[in-house]
Amino acid sequence: MQANQEQVLKLLLTGSVSVGKSAFVNQFKGQEFNEKYIPTIGVDFNEMNLELSGKTQKLQIWDTSGQEKFMPIVSSYFRGSHGIFILYDISNKQSFNDVQKWLQQVNKQGNKNVCKMLIGNKNDLQDARQVSLDEAQQLANDSGMSFMEISAKNGLNVKQAIRLLTTEILNQQEKQKQENQAEQK
Ligand code: GDP
Ligand code: MG
Repeated sequence: MQANQEQVLKLLLTGSVSVGKSAFVNQFKGQEFNEKYIPTIGVDFNEMNLELSGKTQKLQIWDTSGQEKFMPIVSSYFRGSHGIFILYDISNKQSFNDVQKWLQQVNKQGNKNVCKMLIGNKNDLQDARQVSLDEAQQLANDSGMSFMEISAKNGLNVKQAIRLLTTEILNQQEKQKQENQAEQK
């Protein structure tokens, strides 16, 4: 696996309202955590660099609104994505139940080879936990997704999650390339 300097990888964030999608991007960008809730309108676009095995990988991160009314705009962005994060809030069971709904959208509208990752955010809210690690890991296994808990507030696993999904995408592209070469022989 090697970072590709020319290629820009598109990562998209989806999941219900207020699970911390925008906070996740802001934390990755090194911006200060904001307790105030500022709704995302439609889709926000961010471009950034990730250092991966000594190389710089360019990323575009699409931060989408979890509001139902933006669903048609949001899901139209699924197709062009190399990787999709589906977020829920570990202190909000409903947001975890909603993961199925987002997953269906991704499977319907997304690229067939898209790499998916389940993210349980707000790991800092242990006392308010409503979703166990086990049930989330189970769902991820059943649906072919990687899984991590993060905290967009204190930064736990934020870089690691982006690093893991990016690595999976690059590995998958490498595999695809080898399969194509084998076919041509
Ligand atoms: P979005 O609608 O998914 O983009 O959610 P936001 O990023 O706007 O966050 C919604 C609310 O949750 C805001 O009040 C954030 O301050 C808060 N929040 C986001 N991430 C975390 C986290 O990791 N821990 C805690 N305690 N609060 C968070
Ligand atoms: Mg948002």
